[in-house]
Amino acid sequence: MRSALSAIAFCSLLLHSAVASAQEAQKPAASKTIVVLLGTGNPGPDPDRSGPATAIVVNGSAYLVDFGPGVVRRAQAAFDKGIKELQPTRLRVAFVTHLHSDHTVGYSDLIFTPWTIGRRFPLEVYGPKGIKDMTDHILAAYSVDIATRTNPDGNQRGFPEGHNVNAHEVGPGVIYRDSNVTVTAFPTKHAMESYGYRFDTPDRSIVISGDTNPTQATIDACRGCDVLIHEAETPAWLATRLETFRRFAAKYHTTTGELAELASKAKPRLLILYHYNGLSNEELVTDMLKHYSRPFVVGRDLDVY
Ligand SMILES: [Zn+2]
Ligand SMILES: [Zn+2]
Repeated sequence: MRSALSAIAFCSLLLHSAVASAQEAQKPAASKTIVVLLGTGNPGPDPDRSGPATAIVVNGSAYLVDFGPGVVRRAQAAFDKGIKELQPTRLRVAFVTHLHSDHTVGYSDLIFTPWTIGRRFPLEVYGPKGIKDMTDHILAAYSVDIATRTNPDGNQRGFPEGHNVNAHEVGPGVIYRDSNVTVTAFPTKHAMESYGYRFDTPDRSIVISGDTNPTQATIDACRGCDVLIHEAETPAWLATRLETFRRFAAKYHTTTGELAELASKAKPRLLILYHYNGLSNEELVTDMLKHYSRPFVVGRDLDVY
């Protein structure tokens, strides 16, 4: 059993390497912007796949998309690998695609953990309607913690702003701009108000889907972008689910075949699958290869592109 599993892992690694080297050839030579996959996982607590969270890192700053469970520990792991912008105390700007728990249960972690180790400035968080209420409720839930850390006896009284959050509710269009990035939100099709985000930096364009059924808006947001990061599920995996989930997924998620069709129209230089479900990574890769011949990878936590 053990050797069979190893063989599958090795085979999967080979496939991953082959596809990854195809994408290396596509990467702009002087790329300064990087994508760090902090969490590629799903609601299930897979220890190897943290909850959905992605970082776009450019010119000394990091921009997070979603804060699934484990986000701060994965940021620390990326920092330990040499990505200094992901030092937890430097995390300042985050965008959330939608308010499902698997994308947001790391929110309190993102608010409080960096503060307890020295973040001095408030977070800036952008997301759909409801993000302000979620923020207020989390801060209220931790009022005892905040009070004891900031009272005259508290260990955070020297930087009392570090747990504050400026929550911004957004709609479609340009929602954020600074000297590094312009971020454009586009509506996606999920079970609630939801957005994908396009990041334009001086050297790259990156589009991230969040959870969604295939949409024309995603194709339009990419249109030959450098990187498209998109969710996917294989039909073979879906066949193992309950009928209620299959009905939900048909309306609000994307199959590998649908993603291949979408990406064939969107034409990203590199397609990264994240927040994916398959019977195995090998099954995901072989299923994608049936439908799609352009460069793609099945993302893994802490991969850098
Ligand atoms: Zn969702
Ligand atoms: Zn999700």
